[in-house]
Amino acid sequence: PVASVAPERVTPMMAQYIEIKAANPDSLLFYRMGDFYELFFEDAEIASRALGIVLTKRGKHRGEDIPMCGVPVERADDYLQRLIGLGHRVAVCEQMEDPAEAKKRGNKSVVRRDVVRLVTPGTITEENLLEPGRANLLLAIGRRRAGDDHALYGLAAVDISTGRFSVAETDAAGLPGEVARLDPREIVLADTILDDPALAGFWRETQIPLCPLPRDGLDATSAENRLCDHFGVATLDAFGDFTRAEIIAAGTALAYVARTQIAARPALEPPRREAVSASLAIDAATRANLELTRTLAGERAGSLLATIDMTVTPGGGRLLAERLAGPSTDLTEIGARLDALDFLVDDPALRERLRGALAGAPDITRALSRLALDRGGPRDLATIRDGLIAARAIAALLDATPAPAYSLPEALAASRAALDTVDKSLSDTLAAALVEDPPLARRDGGFIREGRDAGLDEARVLQGDSRRFIAGLQGRYAEETECRTLRIKHNNMLGYYVEVPQATGEAWLRNAMKETFIHRQSMSGAMRFTTVELGELEARIAGAAERARAIETALFTELSNLVVAQAQGINAIAQALSALDVTAALAELAETRGWTRPIVDDSLAFAIEGGRHPVVEDALARAGESFIANDADLSGADAGHISVITGPNMGGKSTYLRQNALIVVLAQMGARVPARHAHIGLVDRLFSRVGAADDLARGRSTFMVEMVETAAILNQASRRSLVILDEIGRGTATFDGLSIAWAAIEHLHDVNGCRALFATHFHELTRLAERLARLSNVTLKVAEHKGEVVFLHEVVPGAADRSYGLQVARLAGLPAPVIARARTILEELERADLENPSTARFDDLPLFAAPARQPPPQVAPGPDPLHEALAAIDPDELSPREALERLYALKKLV
Ligand code: ADP
Repeated sequence: PVASVAPERVTPMMAQYIEIKAANPDSLLFYRMGDFYELFFEDAEIASRALGIVLTKRGKHRGEDIPMCGVPVERADDYLQRLIGLGHRVAVCEQMEDPAEAKKRGNKSVVRRDVVRLVTPGTITEENLLEPGRANLLLAIGRRRAGDDHALYGLAAVDISTGRFSVAETDAAGLPGEVARLDPREIVLADTILDDPALAGFWRETQIPLCPLPRDGLDATSAENRLCDHFGVATLDAFGDFTRAEIIAAGTALAYVARTQIAARPALEPPRREAVSASLAIDAATRANLELTRTLAGERAGSLLATIDMTVTPGGGRLLAERLAGPSTDLTEIGARLDALDFLVDDPALRERLRGALAGAPDITRALSRLALDRGGPRDLATIRDGLIAARAIAALLDATPAPAYSLPEALAASRAALDTVDKSLSDTLAAALVEDPPLARRDGGFIREGRDAGLDEARVLQGDSRRFIAGLQGRYAEETECRTLRIKHNNMLGYYVEVPQATGEAWLRNAMKETFIHRQSMSGAMRFTTVELGELEARIAGAAERARAIETALFTELSNLVVAQAQGINAIAQALSALDVTAALAELAETRGWTRPIVDDSLAFAIEGGRHPVVEDALARAGESFIANDADLSGADAGHISVITGPNMGGKSTYLRQNALIVVLAQMGARVPARHAHIGLVDRLFSRVGAADDLARGRSTFMVEMVETAAILNQASRRSLVILDEIGRGTATFDGLSIAWAAIEHLHDVNGCRALFATHFHELTRLAERLARLSNVTLKVAEHKGEVVFLHEVVPGAADRSYGLQVARLAGLPAPVIARARTILEELERADLENPSTARFDDLPLFAAPARQPPPQVAPGPDPLHEALAAIDPDELSPREALERLYALKKLV
């Protein structure tokens, strides 16, 4: 509505504002006016509400007041952070010339202004807008048709604060899991993809801000040209093979980066292809349930990541989070990481020195990205200097060879080699030019060392001398005028001036003093004067300051260019430092917690001895309690085993399920694991259906969520997958739920053939062990003490005999009369149950007469005594009495 107004009817400035706003309709416009960014119209209303700042008005538009609010430029970062956090985009519009220039053009002329950048959640670079230990990814999505009603999606993940640029391809089913793994801050894509029916549910439900772009210019050819152009290559082949969808995604990412960064070009690495199959697939629900990087409440504290993070650098923290979010499925890679870990576990002295040196190394990638975007300051240069120096010290640590046969394992050797990629001369140049502790902003000056530039030194001496001269002048004037209270002061309006008491000043105006002292201002009780001498000194000081600033600015640009020219090498060093930090941190963790190296191979083994839940154990340890370690064995030759877990609430079922999944995640990310011994056949996908939370926001009942997730598991789990299921079927009536759980287990056993842990309240399910060859029962041990239930948290073979529901209810604080009444009802029900078996005994349900199932894969059905006995009967041969006897015998077999 704003843009449609004819510009003639508004002031020139408002006309300019309206024009710029019209070009950036989806962003809040920060319109620079002197020391403030001002917002107008609806933007002002949104910002004042979001930031809690006062809404005022300025002038009129079509007869109505124009709402306005403003934020001081100096504090703009704080406000930006809050707006970005709320999912807004901000267009920063600067004054592109000195207001004096505009005045020269005429009275009506407005200062030239332009949007210099769009600040969006996925494209921020400022230190105080970023979380140090977390990647800040922008995700672009591209699509290609792969059949009549089948599409594949390219995903390009860009972190302009570190230069990371990776691409991958997946299908509609895999996309939500990949997005969850990458955990981007913003998603950009051609608007046509939003209409994709296969992803409609995902778009509706995702919390990540989406930025649709018009599809023009996002086709594969334009995308490829854009990529070649950005990286200065003739073809993309140099970087690897990419699919059309990946190229479109990467091109879309670059287009968006160009759109938000306007003139600046971030130092991105060339795109690296990541096969989706190279990492352990974990769908979004499982990721959330296992609380890998965030708890269900959305906090980092209490997540697996927070529990295992002993890194000492922000880059190491980011890499650890990345590895945890996407554990590997490459045995060589996992082995190499574990070897490197062993090396640092076995050499505590080296580890300690390494961690000490790393702790002092600053975050060089983010400083580099700011310099590349011309948004950096002197402190970023110093960060690069200190980082490069630290990298050399760390290389020297790794080179110190205590034994002749000493050689680094592959992964460490690769990191060590990367530390040499930037020549020592760069840090020497920076060290020779910069002061030890330079200021954040260029305009503050004073960051170049004395002795670096003769012209700069001279200008500084002149400034200093003149200031001293002025101090001397005050004494001389006081003496000459016989006014002891005479002072020389400075302010921005008058520059240097002489201040004397009012009476003295008035006397001067009448006597000869007025020849030397020129009156400028009268205050109450004081008068201010200047002199020719002061004016000249002032000009000298200002000139010298201007010269110094120009020289420093030129040197800054020179140094910054030197740094940016080496961007690739600096990023390689940063990655090596992060990898070393992660390895040393995981080694430290393994040592302090007593974790062991897992055996990971291509079998279908899953044998954990003495496994623990790292987060629960940590919490218990803090309360001075110890965790009960438990075994798990799901190993199979051709297909995995299923373990059915029964036991009372609070017995430790969920903890047990989760700990086994977490051990897989840790092992495959290349960490040691909380177990006495662990043998894991590579897992390709991890599935879980644990905890039932109503998802009312999405309009789905607990039961619906549960069934959707269960369906995904039954449809997708392979022989290599690990499935953990908790309480399937609880969201519905008992018989429905039991039947669904029953059929789900049969499917997992017969069709999926995966390794699975199945916790349940339906004790009837334990009877499946009689029929399914690769299924066994375990239970959480409970002791009773004077009518109180005591949870031992020990997993033992067998099935639970009771559920202890009333005891748990009492522990939970249900009022005593309710418990007593419940006990009466329970006794009643149990008695009725015995007297009238037909009402509630599950044994009488036709469950064993389940419809014909697919035969178990590669596992011969075991001999079934009931079946054999039945087959041996020839009814025509039997007397009625014999028939009755046989019937009794058969019944015993059940
Ligand atoms: P369930 O799923 O059977 O209801 P949980 O797994 O939620 O039980 O465990 C309940 C509580 O018991 C946990 O919060 C934890 O404090 C404790 N617990 C569980 N497993 C163990 C264990 N192995 N050793 C010690 N305490 C445990």
